[in-house]
Amino acid sequence: MQKANVRLYLKEGVNVPREQMSEHFYRDEFACKGEHCCNGSAPISEKLIDGLESFRKALSSYVGEDTPVHINSGFRCKKHNTEEGGEDESEHTNANAVDVSSDVPVVIMYECALNVDVFRGGGIGLYSNRLHLDVGRKRRW
Ligand SMILES: [Zn+2]
Ligand SMILES: [Zn+2]
Repeated sequence: MQKANVRLYLKEGVNVPREQMSEHFYRDEFACKGEHCCNGSAPISEKLIDGLESFRKALSSYVGEDTPVHINSGFRCKKHNTEEGGEDESEHTNANAVDVSSDVPVVIMYECALNVDVFRGGGIGLYSNRLHLDVGRKRRW
């Protein structure tokens, strides 16, 4: 696993170090997307990052080629979560959840997520255009 690959990206006119969390994921991908709230805070649990790497691997092996996973939504501060109509105890506010998409249909992503230990024991939610994954308590929808 590569670490400490620090680059700079531009966030609301401020240079923030781009921190590599794992082989394929960077901290800024998980930043809160709300406006006028937490200024793009991006706490994210290591268990979730590990799960995402395993998920990406499972997906790629199912498809038979390297398949990138796009983070639609990662951390949400309480304010942004409320704006988004998220449930109060959303794992997104605990830095334990992501919504992801890829070039692969979500039903296939769902099946692959079931093969990843931390998500099988956590939350997996199917939406029309994205998959919710979290490392909280076991739930399916
Ligand atoms: Zn926020
Ligand atoms: Zn979600």
